[in-house]
Amino acid sequence: MKAEILSVGTELLLGEIDDTNASFLSRRLAALGVDVHLRHTVGDNLKRLLQILSSARRRAQVILLTGGLGPTPDDITREALAELTQRPLQTISEAEMQLYQFFAARNREPSHADLKQAMAPRGAELLDNPVGTAPGIWLEHQDVTYIALPGPPPEMREMMDNQILPRLRERVGAEGEGLLYTRFLRLAGLGESQVADQLADLLESQTNPTMALYASPGEVRIRLATKASEEAEAQRIFMPVEQQIRSRLTSAVYGVDDETMEVALGQALLAAQATVAVAESCTGGLVASRITDVPGASRYFLAGYVTYSNEAKTDILGVSPETLEAHGAVSEECAQAMVEGARRRSGADYAIAVTGIAGPSGGSAEKPVGTVYIGVADVEGTTVVHSLWPGSRVQFKQRVSQLALDQLRRRVIGA
Ligand code: AMP
Ligand code: MG
Repeated sequence: MKAEILSVGTELLLGEIDDTNASFLSRRLAALGVDVHLRHTVGDNLKRLLQILSSARRRAQVILLTGGLGPTPDDITREALAELTQRPLQTISEAEMQLYQFFAARNREPSHADLKQAMAPRGAELLDNPVGTAPGIWLEHQDVTYIALPGPPPEMREMMDNQILPRLRERVGAEGEGLLYTRFLRLAGLGESQVADQLADLLESQTNPTMALYASPGEVRIRLATKASEEAEAQRIFMPVEQQIRSRLTSAVYGVDDETMEVALGQALLAAQATVAVAESCTGGLVASRITDVPGASRYFLAGYVTYSNEAKTDILGVSPETLEAHGAVSEECAQAMVEGARRRSGADYAIAVTGIAGPSGGSAEKPVGTVYIGVADVEGTTVVHSLWPGSRVQFKQRVSQLALDQLRRRVIGA
């Protein structure tokens, strides 16, 4: 079953609002196994909406529209459907009654324009809108199903989840294609091209499950997808491919699906029955914040020290003024002293420290913006890694926190 999504609204074309409806609908349809081959954005313009509808109906069996169902003259979705299918608009008395009730409950009368919302092309069904006034439209015409949903996201989502999806699911089930299942493997410490190189043959030949790479700051995700009649069948299809990937990429695979790095680290610490403390400069507390995003973090997280000034590094972590004087606060020596100080002071089994230059100012030729030193310490000793992540402050903090959490995770699991 192929679908296309049409987002209607001039404000979308002007970039005044983001088209969150289309991505929501895409996600829901993907989960159903319905293939969305094209998405369109069109202004509040009858002629252009008709143009795109006439071409979409030659390609797709399901056309979902959002927006343009309201009472104002620029809302033209229902007129477009009527004209496209040559089915005149008719008032649906039940919907009209509901409109009267909606307004009566607010001590008002619907205007002529409001009543337009009770109209639908002949033969169409109106879909209840429990959170607003404009009902949706479900129209079957010449083997194509047209589904028009209101523009306001809460109304659109409610209607999609409670009224549209159950019907589409039934249809997908009847066609026996199966639902789409996905599994994400999450990787850190490797770039997208490194992952692509190591999996080149698989990426090339793999068809069931399909395999794709998604890169985002600080991580690469491998998406496995398959159509199956049930979850267990999908897992059976994923397993051998996942095993192959894990055997090649080993400890770079830190989690699956919605397991974040902080979740993975928490699991590693719990398994090792170990505790951790954090000393941060350039990340301003983000590393500690992420560790404590995980419920139950109190079982392993002892303390976080945000030591931004040199004095704080000395007073709280015991970094010697001589170290700071000789090497600077952004240095391997300082990271080492910070991480050892944090471990000593907290009594934790493990500690992490980060010190770097987030920018945009403060860089030098020797230590450019984006320079960072990350220290990890345990009873065996201390290691410090140096890396460079130029970018905005927010990106820098995000990436550095990811790297720091990953460094510790690898140490804890003995990678
Ligand atoms: P409409 O039904 O076209 O009058 O849209 C009503 C409101 O819904 C708009 O003013 C937007 O705030 C919102 N809206 C419409 N279309 C979208 C969309 N594709 N994504 C997110 N919000 C939307
Ligand atoms: Mg509109």
